[in-house]
Amino acid sequence: MHSLEERFRKVKAEIEEVCEKCGRDSNEIRIVAVSKSQPLSLIEEAISVGIKVFGENRVQEAEKKIAELRCRVEWHLVGHLQSNKAKKAVRLFDVVHSVDSVKIAGILDRVCKEESRSELPVFIQVNLSGEATKSGVSKKELKDLIRFLAQCDRLKLVGLMTIPPFFEDVERVRPFFRELRVLRDKFLPNGWLSMGMSHDFHVAIEEGATHVRIGTRIFGERR
Ligand SMILES: *Cc1c(COP(=O)(O)O)cnc(C)c1O
Repeated sequence: MHSLEERFRKVKAEIEEVCEKCGRDSNEIRIVAVSKSQPLSLIEEAISVGIKVFGENRVQEAEKKIAELRCRVEWHLVGHLQSNKAKKAVRLFDVVHSVDSVKIAGILDRVCKEESRSELPVFIQVNLSGEATKSGVSKKELKDLIRFLAQCDRLKLVGLMTIPPFFEDVERVRPFFRELRVLRDKFLPNGWLSMGMSHDFHVAIEEGATHVRIGTRIFGERR
């Protein structure tokens, strides 16, 4: 039907439109193109239309793609990280959006030292709905993890991330985005906000998102 280029243009146009409406500068918004389960050919097509930042949720899948891809782009890990994959994650990813425990933070920091990586930018994933199926720290645990990250030499806390519950009606998602922004304002005043996916990025931007993680609206349905 529509090409990837058309879909990407449409997404960008919608981002411009929302930004205009709520008085934000669209240059503040980073699009992380979530390419999980999509073939390498589509990632190459995405690169050819100017996409430079990709998100993957599984280390193994990303490893294969990154190895096969010739050109250098930015890779963001957006899915839960298991400790036995930390070493690979440090080697493969530019940014991790899903730090969700003191344990994984400690392992990542140690691995960075072992791998002589001087800095790894990370977001803390916050679970605001309490859904057991979603990872992320609770609001209560957030402060402790922030404090812990402050002592990590190699990890640089850049912001907060959340995955709200799915509601057809995006207005029901808004309170979650707003809550993450309030937490950011309180604990990490200059931090970024990784929030908003294909069906709710408009609302996320209205609520302050700096990184929107968009999969299907760019790549089409997952394979
Ligand atoms: C899959 C995924 C996305 C993208 O989802 P779409 O609805 O396809 O845009 C964003 N963030 C995370 C963490 C994901 O796992």
